[in-house]
Order: sequence, then C-alpha cells, then structure tokens
Amino acid sequence: MPKPVHPADLIGLDREQLTEALGDLGEKPLRVKQLWHWLYHQGETDFAKMTTLAKALRARLAERFCVGRPELAREQTSADGTRKWLLRFQDGNEAETVYIPDNDEEGGAVCLSVQVGCTLTCRFCHTGTQLLVRNLTAAEIVGQFLAARDSYGEWPTPTDSVRKLSNVVLMGMGEPLFNYDEVAQALRILMDPEGLGLSRRRITLSTSGVVPMIERLGRELGVNLAVSLHAVTDEVRDHLMPINKKYPIAQLMAALRAYPGASNARRITIEYLLLRGVNDSLADAKALAGLVKGIPVKFNLIPFNPWPGAPFLPPAAKSVQAFSDYLFRQGYSAPIRQPRGQDILAACGQLRSESQREKMSRAKARRAQGLADESHPPQAALP
Ligand code: SAH
Ligand code: SF4
Repeated sequence: MPKPVHPADLIGLDREQLTEALGDLGEKPLRVKQLWHWLYHQGETDFAKMTTLAKALRARLAERFCVGRPELAREQTSADGTRKWLLRFQDGNEAETVYIPDNDEEGGAVCLSVQVGCTLTCRFCHTGTQLLVRNLTAAEIVGQFLAARDSYGEWPTPTDSVRKLSNVVLMGMGEPLFNYDEVAQALRILMDPEGLGLSRRRITLSTSGVVPMIERLGRELGVNLAVSLHAVTDEVRDHLMPINKKYPIAQLMAALRAYPGASNARRITIEYLLLRGVNDSLADAKALAGLVKGIPVKFNLIPFNPWPGAPFLPPAAKSVQAFSDYLFRQGYSAPIRQPRGQDILAACGQLRSESQREKMSRAKARRAQGLADESHPPQAALP
C-alpha cells in the first residue's frame, strides 16, 4: 500500500525554519511574526481563518503546509481532575500526555512525553518495559502541549496568571536528555514570549542522570532541573536504574553541584522514589541528606505507583512520613508526592502506550501460532 503523503507541518519549526519555509513562497520575514502569532498565540489550525494574512497567501500556505496536531486516540479524565490523552503520531506510534491540575491554585502542569517508550529499562518504571522506542520530534513534543490546550479550549494564550495549563514538566515517557536537540527546539518554542510564552521557571525537565548533558541544559535552556536519584548507594542504584553503571552517583552529584543557575532561590529537585524494603529506611534518609550536602536542592518523595506485574511494592505510609520528617528536620523541603490520576493509570511511571500493549499481545498470539514476529523493528540508536 502506498504511504499517505502528509503536507509539511509548520508546528515544530523554529523562527528561522519558518522564515525559510515562507521564503520559498516569496514572502517577507515580517509574515513570520504574524504567522507565529496565529500558530502559537491564537492556536489557529485553519489557514483560511488567519485573517491578518493576505487571502492569496493563505491559499498558498494551505496548498503546501498544515498546522498539525497529534491525533487524539483517547482522552480520560480522572475523578481527581487529572486528564490523560493518548496521542497518535503520523507513523502510528503513540505517547501519553497528562494534565495535573494544581490542588490549591488556578494552574496546573502538563506532563509531556519525549520518546515513545524509553531505552533505559529502570526496573520500577512501566514505560521502561515498552520495547518499541523512538525519539519524538520537536513538532510532536510541542504538539502534545497544543493538544492539551485544545482540550481545555485555552486559546488565545491567556496572561500568565490566569492559565489553567500554566506549567510544563518533562516527566512523561522517555529520557529527555537522550533526545536533547528535539527537546531543546520544543522548549524554545514553548518559551517564545510572542506565542505560548511559558517562562523557563515554569518548565521542569526530569532526567534519570545523563551526566554529560546536564551542564549544557542549564547553560542553553536554563529550565528547572529535576533528577531521579532513588537510591543512596551505587549498589542499589545500579540495580534499580541501569544508567547508574555508566554515570554513578558521585558523578551525578558533581554535575548537580555545577548546574548553571541553581541557587537557594532556584533549587534542583531530587526525586526520590520509595520502594518498600529497598530504599525507604531512616538510614537511607540520613545518607541522602549527606549526599546532597552543599547543593541547593529540595526533595520530592514519590511513593511507588504500582502497575500490573511490577516487581516492587509501595512503601508503608509510616516509613514515607518518617523519611519526609527526617529531611524536613534537616532543613529541606520534602513533600510527599500524592499520586494523581491513578484510576486512569496516569501517575508517574504508569505511562505506557496502549498501542504497544496491543501490539505485544498480537505478537504473542503470532508467536503462539508459530508465525514470525514483525512487530519489533530495531531500537532507535541513542547515545
Ligand atoms: N526519564 C525521566 C523522566 C520521566 S520519568 C526520568 O527518569 O527522570 C518521571 C518520574 O517518574 C521519574 O522520577 C521516575 O523515576 C518516576 N517513576 C517511574 N516509575 C515510577 C513508578 N512506578 N512510581 C512512581 N514514580 C515512578
Ligand atoms: Fe526511562 Fe525515566 Fe522510566 Fe527510567 S524512569 S525507564 S529513564 S522514563
């Protein structure tokens, strides 16, 4: 079957690339400013409605280009207000995006995925069990945010203080620092003041600890940094997170110490997942405080969110409380992250595309019938 031809998507292009695209149509750079406003301030997807552009230009744009959105495969809203979208991209791959409303305030965070699946296979993470992996493009990363804004009808972009979708966290599927270039391009689009206008202070990138990329992230993008630490010894961390064998704890701590822009006013978040009997003792809490001494950090304690077949148990409530109290007494902020959207498997580490599950079971069925398994293309090459 011939592949469908998709018109080129304007979403995900930076201003230079958009200028080039328009230049090919013989248009002046000024038009880029107007078009940018339509794409990212108005959220307009129909060229015919971009009324500040000449009619002839609108028609020519519509011939060549589209303003893409990922296809909405499913939307679910949790009893606690968390909303999850399963989004399908042009090649049929899917990823999940979640909106988590703030409990006390107006706003909330959109949690974006950066890869389909993840190469890192952390043992506690549902996403890491997904075999199919590819990087998402800047268009697909920005597209998730636009789709979330569409779902809430939050167009044109409201002023900062009244937004529902006020923050972005890169804590969905995948490792953002293994897809740096596309993530960086997406973040620059999200931060552009004439469009989506998210301040870098409202964006947090979570990494499993890709040490060589951390300094660059701070220098080039200056967003908030969160690090999934989850253990205080290399022995335990090696077991939980294979990346620790490459970049052990001491190297990670050195990278945090050197993170550009971190200060007492802008602290690095240490995410610490609590797994029953593995890393949730008071001795672990003490060692943790020792590890981060002198680094401007705050903690985010995450009780393990179970998923079907997971090899760990959630911690006892009283050990979580004791862990948090200890860090608090040492002068740290150490809130316990309340799992959100658990009824729709939208909480941290529970994301995994349904499509993959379905493909896997189809593959199993084929194997059972003695047929070749065609559903696993080679994994994308990642650094
Ligand atoms: N790859 C990046 C960002 C995505 S994961 C990273 O690992 O930091 C976002 C957060 O969810 C990480 O802190 C991750 O460790 C945590 N997480 C993964 N599985 C989890 C689970 N089952 N329960 C609770 N948190 C989990
Ligand atoms: Fe990947 Fe993060 Fe999950 Fe580890 S925790 S497998 S790095 S998404």
